[in-house]
Amino acid sequence: MNIKGIGMTSERTRQRLIERLFDKGIRDPRVLDCFNKVPRHLFVDEALGHKAYEDTAVPIGYSQTLSQPYIVARMTELVMNAQHHERVLEIGTGSGFQTAVLAQLVDQVYSVERIKPLQDKARERLRFLKLYNTRLKLDDGFLGWPDQAPFDVIIGTAAPSEPPKELIEQLVPDGGRLILPIGTQEQWLTVIERDGDGWHSEAIEAVRFVPMLTGVQRE
Ligand code: SAH
Repeated sequence: MNIKGIGMTSERTRQRLIERLFDKGIRDPRVLDCFNKVPRHLFVDEALGHKAYEDTAVPIGYSQTLSQPYIVARMTELVMNAQHHERVLEIGTGSGFQTAVLAQLVDQVYSVERIKPLQDKARERLRFLKLYNTRLKLDDGFLGWPDQAPFDVIIGTAAPSEPPKELIEQLVPDGGRLILPIGTQEQWLTVIERDGDGWHSEAIEAVRFVPMLTGVQRE
């Protein structure tokens, strides 16, 4: 990680991104402020650092991408609008950027990743930023994190073809919220809210995410 890089991006570069997010409809000041607080360039390879404050997805290796800032912001707004958001589970740690954003806003973030080298790097970044309210686990996120359930919110940053039942079951029964892209060719960012034994779902907008895959990859 390029530790020297911290502080090298100008206040103006970050401000420009925040203005762009505002123009695209992100209005929650708590969410916008995260893009000031979390240095996104630390979450991408040095060679791609110049792309870190553009509103685009950035490759992070292993055929995976760090999501576009607009999508991270939109999903984070949906977390903050949930009835409760003290304990949040993320599926797909990836670079750790979304994890770091959530760590600014909620009490405790749990995050599951299936590719070990990505998890190792994310852990290093979160430690460097002293975000100690994050816990990472190497596992197949389709299984959730049963030992730590229930969660107020579960957020998925990779797309399953349909809502995973295990995840819905790990939500608090009263208003627990699952936020994730669903679909294969055509994907929709979807919010599923639990209501006792039942749940209802709402499609938010068309998106493009990497697929949620099963199993663990160690290298
Ligand atoms: N939130 C990430 C986005 C990374 S892309 C970021 O901010 O950088 C999606 C990630 O989901 C990838 O790292 C991929 O390996 C992971 N993933 C896909 N299927 C998964 C599964 N079943 N369990 C855990 N992680 C998964």
